Amino acid sequence: MPRVDRVVARPDLAEVRAAVGPKAFVELVRAGIDAARTALLSGERRGVPTEEEVATWVRERAGVLRAGRARRVINATGVMLHTNLGRAPLSERAAAAVAESMRGYSSIELDLGTGKRGKRAAFLEASLASLAGAEAAIVVNNCAAAVLLLLAAVARGRSVVVSRGELVEIGGGFRVPDVMVESGARLIEVGTTNKTRRADYERALDANPDCAAILRVHQGNFRQLGFVERPSLAELGDLARERGIPLLKDLGGGALVDLSSTGFVGEPIVASCVRDGCAAVTFSADKVLGGPQGGAIVGSSAIIERVRKHPLARALRLGRLAIVALEATLEAYLLERAWEEVPALAMSRTSVTELEARVDRWVERFAAVGISARRVATEAEMGGGTLAARTIPSVAVEISTDARDADTLARVLREGDPAVMGRVREGGVLLDARTVSAAEEEMLLARVVASFDR
Ligand SMILES: *Cc1c(COP(=O)(O)O)cnc(C)c1O
Repeated sequence: MPRVDRVVARPDLAEVRAAVGPKAFVELVRAGIDAARTALLSGERRGVPTEEEVATWVRERAGVLRAGRARRVINATGVMLHTNLGRAPLSERAAAAVAESMRGYSSIELDLGTGKRGKRAAFLEASLASLAGAEAAIVVNNCAAAVLLLLAAVARGRSVVVSRGELVEIGGGFRVPDVMVESGARLIEVGTTNKTRRADYERALDANPDCAAILRVHQGNFRQLGFVERPSLAELGDLARERGIPLLKDLGGGALVDLSSTGFVGEPIVASCVRDGCAAVTFSADKVLGGPQGGAIVGSSAIIERVRKHPLARALRLGRLAIVALEATLEAYLLERAWEEVPALAMSRTSVTELEARVDRWVERFAAVGISARRVATEAEMGGGTLAARTIPSVAVEISTDARDADTLARVLREGDPAVMGRVREGGVLLDARTVSAAEEEMLLARVVASFDR
């Protein structure tokens, strides 16, 4: 068998060693030799492997490991909040705040006036409450955590009424009925998949005097059309008030501004849910709000204080990086600069004319180096489990791939650095301009040109 020290010393593996570190490198070499030995003993291969073969195995294995690392991606899919690409890109303000804060320590839980322990994320939570028109707010790790924590704090050991049309899967295995079970609340289903009326809720509340709340789940990642009916949020708010129980809403999206001017209609604003009588609203920080991964509950002080005291609150709390990033993101809203600064908002408002001009420049640049491409009209989505089946017009460059197949070009682009993620359509690769920032344009063009050189 090849000797470990001889394979380790091979100059053609120096790059792998530099990339993975000395310990992991030696382990990889050992694993490579072991794999060859196992194959030999099982009769899967004949003959002792050469050092060369082990080196090849080590290089490939290191490549697989590296591929699992989070890498910078230029999103040319036209999906603004791409769940597989980390949802919302951060604003410059948020990125700068994170970079600045992470170089040293931070007063994240310190009252600088007294020098004693302070309330974690105090400014952040006050800002959120103010932007939502709510009395109070608490931030946690994501919206799934917010829903779990809210239900556990408000309804553990008691019943919660939910419409059958809202017992949905949000994605990534987050299913409303399952989360309720985990929270310790008992689910009372009312109505049918397509129709639920106020009377259905009333009957369920009459029959279950232990009811702790009514839960409304926003239908963000799917749409029901046709023979459908459910009470408005305000009607449910009235009912909850009459019965003296809170109305809880899992909103998901977390829009702090009205998106309808972009063409995306139907996404409720957090503040309107509060106004309609919700005692608590849960939402994500990295969907249409445009911040880092996080979740929020806004609502009445009484409920938020109960949530804060629940033991799960500590387990689900938001991390320091995310607190700093979210604070800076909200600052843009407070200063009324969100439409300019928050990328998810800014890109949804870019005009088609501007996108066309950008793509025309790309086409020219490609033509100059002999890459055949043309401008095409596309549709862009918000993504991230919001605004399902709603799109706005967008513009892409279609790179014709007569010379090679489109899947291969798309893969070469994905595997580059930075990776470029486009869409394959009818034999061509589409790169949508709406989700590519001005700062990324040159990199994108360079990656495409380089992928043709290969
Ligand atoms: C997206 C979504 C969630 C989960 O949010 P995460 O921040 O991904 O945990 C929960 N509820 C609704 C209605 C959603 O749209």
